[in-house]
Amino acid sequence: MSRRGPENPSFSELVSAIARAARAPRLLVASDFDGTLAPLVGHPSLAVPNSLAVSALHRLCGMTGVYTAIISGRPRASLHALLADIGPELEIIGSHGAESPWAIDWHARDFDLDAARDIADDGARQLPGSWVEQKPAGIAWHFRACDPIAAGPILAQVRARFAHVRGGQVVPGLQVLECIPQGVSKAFAFEALRRQFAPGCSFFFGDDEPDADVFAALAPGDVGVAVGAPRPGAGWTVASPSDVACLLLQLADERERWNLSRSPR
Ligand SMILES: [Mg+2]
Repeated sequence: MSRRGPENPSFSELVSAIARAARAPRLLVASDFDGTLAPLVGHPSLAVPNSLAVSALHRLCGMTGVYTAIISGRPRASLHALLADIGPELEIIGSHGAESPWAIDWHARDFDLDAARDIADDGARQLPGSWVEQKPAGIAWHFRACDPIAAGPILAQVRARFAHVRGGQVVPGLQVLECIPQGVSKAFAFEALRRQFAPGCSFFFGDDEPDADVFAALAPGDVGVAVGAPRPGAGWTVASPSDVACLLLQLADERERWNLSRSPR
């Protein structure tokens, strides 16, 4: 499951870290969605969350002192539809943090969404198989199904043009390039969650470039788990969303035992 490396201690250490973290009186469990709770697929509309991960999050949501959240680049409405079974306690943050109760007023940043859209449309015209997704707070140009050699120069061109969009910032991802309002970030959303819930320990699971800032924001004793490839700040790396599901189930089991041990008999 986990891979060893300088930033990646053994799996037994991860199991111990989860057991230790599960005993924090207030615990924040936050995760990305695509590539982390759901395997990456050719089109976002085809993604299905791992059923064991959903079940574990459902259990965690109902536990005393546990706060759960999804922080994703997806539109919030799409996350709500995919995770409806988990329950209203799950905090769902979409559009890289732009869709959350604590989001910055990005409308005031004068983000030129139309310019970003035109640039992405140009990219899609030049690269067959790529396509453009308009989100509530940004534009995503997807090229997952495209020839990577053909994509290279067009990607460089779109990236350079996105960088000049008024009020915007470029967010690279796995076979996707996005232009979103300046100041919006998953790390900002994660910090807002921490301020809201004041956890003694936080978990974060993520697989992609936009998750890197969240890993960097973790405090000593927090648990950061990268999926697919190691990320700076993530203490552990696992191979797939199935592994994330196993870890969430372990966390749910540990927390349940700990809560039971503290309840009056
Ligand atoms: Mg992801």
